[in-house]
Amino acid sequence: MVRVVIVGATGRMGCTLVVCARHMQGLVVTGAVDRLGHASIGRDIGELAGIGPIGVLVSGSLVSALDAADVVVDFSDPSSTAANLDACAQAGVAMLVGTTGLAADIDAHAARAAQHIPVMIASNTSLGVTLLTALVREAARLLPDDFDIEIVEAHHRHKKDAPSGTALTLGKAAAQGRGVAFETVAVMAREGVAPRKIGDIGFSVVRGGDIVGEHDVIFAGTAEKLTLSHQATDRAVFARGALQAARWLAARQAGRFGMSDFISLKTAT
Ligand code: NAD
Repeated sequence: MVRVVIVGATGRMGCTLVVCARHMQGLVVTGAVDRLGHASIGRDIGELAGIGPIGVLVSGSLVSALDAADVVVDFSDPSSTAANLDACAQAGVAMLVGTTGLAADIDAHAARAAQHIPVMIASNTSLGVTLLTALVREAARLLPDDFDIEIVEAHHRHKKDAPSGTALTLGKAAAQGRGVAFETVAVMAREGVAPRKIGDIGFSVVRGGDIVGEHDVIFAGTAEKLTLSHQATDRAVFARGALQAARWLAARQAGRFGMSDFISLKTAT
């Protein structure tokens, strides 16, 4: 039985993870961590998630939860990701990071941790977006450069980071497909006089209501437009994907992994 500790346990994703874990074979939630000082500390996470008590109390300390862990699943806040990676590396516990809006230096932390433990950083843990990412890379590789790439994403009113981690991942896949450096072509916002340059990859962001997550990748050519699109209508798709990937990750040797490794996509790269 794979023992899972959830970080950000009382949040929207945390509670969905707790609910979904109950229906999954081969794993059990043994720890629930939230922000130190949060009102939920000491309460049963099952009760907070609406499934009744499961005997796991919310803790403010990841380190103390690691004794009973095979893998940590973190959907919390980017401010603690680096410290959590370090703590997992120290304890020899695998870690899946679902948190988005991560700091620029997080790859360096992940690379260090991955020398000791299996690490997966996944801006989107749904099967559909994992496949979409591969399709976008391939479409960008195959289509001529005069197909303009624009990425439009929409999320609920509470989402903090913009553009979404998924939109950035899709943009990076498109840049990779075209063989260009993402930083040199990404256009995060347009205002005033802002003509489009050939090769730009533009991002547009919608925030409102309870939209779970929508991503359109538009390849706009002359007299034709191809749109690759994904819509999530229930955050359980992210939770199930994350738990399945975490169960798989716990059995890996130390190293860096992505969702495409987990579902064995035969990507072009
Ligand atoms: P949320 O605000 O509902 O929940 C975040 C939780 O983390 C809260 O309970 C908060 O108290 C807790 N938290 C904050 N700082 C913490 C800390 N230092 N240590 C421990 N817990 C802390 O947000 P959410 O909608 O559940 O999303 C959480 C994260 O997951 C966001 O970054 C979001 O973008 C990301 N997300 C990723 C995917 C994916 O597929 N990878 C899907 C949905 C959301």
